[in-house]
Amino acid sequence: MSGEKINELIIIGSGPAGYTAAIYAARASLSPLILAGPEPGGQLTTTTSVENFPGFPEGIQGPQLMINMQKQAERFGGIIKFETVTKVNLGSSPKKVWVGEKEYPAKALIIATGARSRTLRLPREKELWGKGIHTCATCDGFFYRGKNVAVIGGGDSAMEESNFLTKFADKIYIIHRQNNFRASDIMRDRTKNNPKIEILWNSEITKYLGQNKLTGVKVKNEKTGEEKELKIDGLFFAIGHIPNTEIFKGQLDLDDKAGYIAAQNNVYTNIEGVFAAGDCVDYIYRQAVSSAGLGCMAAIAAERWLDKA
Ligand code: NDP
Repeated sequence: MSGEKINELIIIGSGPAGYTAAIYAARASLSPLILAGPEPGGQLTTTTSVENFPGFPEGIQGPQLMINMQKQAERFGGIIKFETVTKVNLGSSPKKVWVGEKEYPAKALIIATGARSRTLRLPREKELWGKGIHTCATCDGFFYRGKNVAVIGGGDSAMEESNFLTKFADKIYIIHRQNNFRASDIMRDRTKNNPKIEILWNSEITKYLGQNKLTGVKVKNEKTGEEKELKIDGLFFAIGHIPNTEIFKGQLDLDDKAGYIAAQNNVYTNIEGVFAAGDCVDYIYRQAVSSAGLGCMAAIAAERWLDKA
């Protein structure tokens, strides 16, 4: 079904990158259409207190922060539809975005579809989410001062998260399913030499313990078959992220790591007039504030491109 007017700019996604792009684009009189996606507000809507977003000295609840960003985008003329894009044609002019049968044409696009953390999908994971189970030590490590925590994974993220957690926690276990780390040498050595960190090799978590809050995990050594209870207050997943870029495969250049959008100068994709921002591009920082920064850059880049087009 066609017949929709041609939008100057469509923004796909409504996390900090999408909404910040929307605020900038709306203030530049582009009347951006924001297609919010399956998780309006993005990953921050599943967290509690956000204490590292500048401007909120007492912290702010993640869902509230995202509602504020939504309102700010709407205030300047951003049009938000709570719909999920199912298909795109980035090669046509105008570019086309579909939500089911509904077609939205646009001169320019900003992709801010984010990423999702890989998790173990063990029973009761959702129930304990944010109540001991986390995916970002930079965001939530602060709450574990003087406590015992565990990090699961053996890549650079696991090394970085566990070293960061030594600033707060008394003891950090790394639970890893192999007998060596795939992380870079320098990160691996730093981790192994840290006296606060104990590594449980060949180990997998089989069960979460605790009622309304995580109090520990059951860990099985796959080599010996031994299973033991580990008392911890917090568990941080560092087993990778999956960028939400499936619908762009075959059209946009994606990197060969895990399908992140390959962007030049932060926000320029390989297709003219298509820009990308936030966790679908950035696999290193993954912070609300850095995503917001990328959203701002993408909107300015799109505005300049539209001016010249
Ligand atoms: P990686 O994919 O590199 O590592 C994921 C780790 O999680 C692996 O050790 C993997 O085990 C383990 N894992 C995956 N699935 C499971 C599962 N179901 N159960 C248990 N363990 C599991 O992801 P990272 O996030 O660490 O890194 C992603 C990319 O970002 C890398 O290229 C990395 O170098 C980069 N990065 C760079 C940083 C920096 O430069 N400062 C910081 C962080 C990341 P196995 O080893 O068995 O596959």
